[in-house]
Amino acid sequence: MKPRNLLVIFGDQLSMDMASLKAADPAQDHVLMVEVAAEAETVNHHKQKLVFFFAAMRHFRDELRAAGWSVDYVTLDAPENTGTFEGEIARAVERLSPDRLVFTAPSEWRVERMVGTLENALDIPVKTLEDTRFLCGRNEFAAWAEGRRGLRMEYFYREMRRKTGLLMNDDKPEGGRWNFDAENRKPAGTDLFMPRPPRIKPDQTTADVITMVGETFDTHCGKLKGFGYAVTRADAEKCLDYFISHALPLFGDYQDAMLTGEPYLYHSVLSPYINVGLLDPLDVCRRAEEAYKKGRAPLNAVEGFIRQIIGWREYVRGIYWLKMPDYVDANHLEAKRPLPDFYWTAETEMACLKAAIGQTMELAYAHHIQRLMITGNFALLAGINPKEVHEWYLGVYVDALEWVELPNTLGMSQFADGGLLGSKPYAASANYINKMSDYCSGCRFRADRKVGEDACPFNALYWHFLDRNRDRIGSNARLRNTYSTWDRMHADTRADYLAAAERFLASL
Ligand code: FAD
Ligand code: SF4
Repeated sequence: MKPRNLLVIFGDQLSMDMASLKAADPAQDHVLMVEVAAEAETVNHHKQKLVFFFAAMRHFRDELRAAGWSVDYVTLDAPENTGTFEGEIARAVERLSPDRLVFTAPSEWRVERMVGTLENALDIPVKTLEDTRFLCGRNEFAAWAEGRRGLRMEYFYREMRRKTGLLMNDDKPEGGRWNFDAENRKPAGTDLFMPRPPRIKPDQTTADVITMVGETFDTHCGKLKGFGYAVTRADAEKCLDYFISHALPLFGDYQDAMLTGEPYLYHSVLSPYINVGLLDPLDVCRRAEEAYKKGRAPLNAVEGFIRQIIGWREYVRGIYWLKMPDYVDANHLEAKRPLPDFYWTAETEMACLKAAIGQTMELAYAHHIQRLMITGNFALLAGINPKEVHEWYLGVYVDALEWVELPNTLGMSQFADGGLLGSKPYAASANYINKMSDYCSGCRFRADRKVGEDACPFNALYWHFLDRNRDRIGSNARLRNTYSTWDRMHADTRADYLAAAERFLASL
């Protein structure tokens, strides 16, 4: 039967709550899902990330069919597959002759632009509905941002608390404060109980995808063996249950901590599931709030967790749509150095980088502080071209979609937007890494040495970064004390730092 509407569902729209599905009728409308090589090749995507997306899509196809939907599903290895969204949508229109194409707004600028060309190219009406999985619509964020001098996340977050009622008593925040971050900066010890997020054994559908990815994307980065992510709603729910009961209570205390051999600590590892639609962000927050209300998790943990989701996650999406397409080319610090090879191999003597990159290649996961204060901090201090840094983050993490990765990388981590997202660069010397992790104790460099053969490279790089960027960030009020310290140093000491950093950079 000729469908009335052809609903195109993308790989990060795997929820029965998608606006296009909710507005449709399985008796008259048809779903199209396609695996395309062009998307898998936009950057060097980690093999486990490719498995995650394709396997979750195939399971969602089965869920839709079980719910009575007609689904046209084109696998990557289908001989007729053209390899692009445009090509596959055109073929489906030819095959099924629908009256109309219906989309839920794509999450990424590139895909939205593609959708915008279809009406003319295929001579068919196209309707795009807002993605209601986000708490703050794109227009709503633009209205919030309009006329503000600074777009600080903290104020946006308070609006979202009021809007959702999460941790609110009428119009007052639970516990009398909006933010309990000051209590969330403890280093972790190896004697703590460490939760382990469930690893899900691949079923036959996932095993088929693992074989396909191994054969087709052999040259892509990352280990394929050991894939254990959830790819169905039911398994993602199990991961959420595990996090709420085992890790959430200590999430706040150890949010910024890093430990050798402990890739997850008390982090949730829920971002891939939330980002593709297997878990609903507001439901996840309500589960955390419930744990607090039942006395199973403290306020500093629950507030911190909820802030990441209704604060940071919504905020970076707002910034992405406000600033694209120019945002991707931002390079306020004019950083030009190529990304060092060890970002792909983990072959470096710096123990912190080796740990963060090694686990990234092994698991397609690193937690926020590893991304921000180890790999991100190093790239910032060494002056790596932010576009190359962005493409690395977009490729290597299982949760990476451009709308969330780009503002985090370019804005928060690399200060490439000149301070739109962060009030100062997240730049740190070895002192911070030594305080928040145990990496330095197993490193061939010494965190407390400033210069010399065994001095930690982060130390000289830190001052080199501040010195070479003085024209661009020297007037930042939050860096005033740091620049005063630099200025008070003996000229020989400053020269030693700068020479050591130059030598190190030349060796990269
Ligand atoms: P948890 O620490 O358990 O946090 C809970 C949830 O809060 C996460 O699942 C996530 O949904 C949300 N969250 C936390 N921090 C952020 C944030 N800064 N921005 C948006 N959401 C947040 N997150 C992605 O989802 N995809 C990315 O591609 C991505 N790239 C990043 C790149 C850099 C350079 C940095 C510094 C951060 C990036 N983040 C990204 C944000 C954050 O690091 C990840 O969301 C988090 O590490 C995911 O692990 P988790 O689920 O264990 O998070
Ligand atoms: Fe990293 Fe320096 Fe510590 Fe080594 S000494 S782990 S390079 S911060």
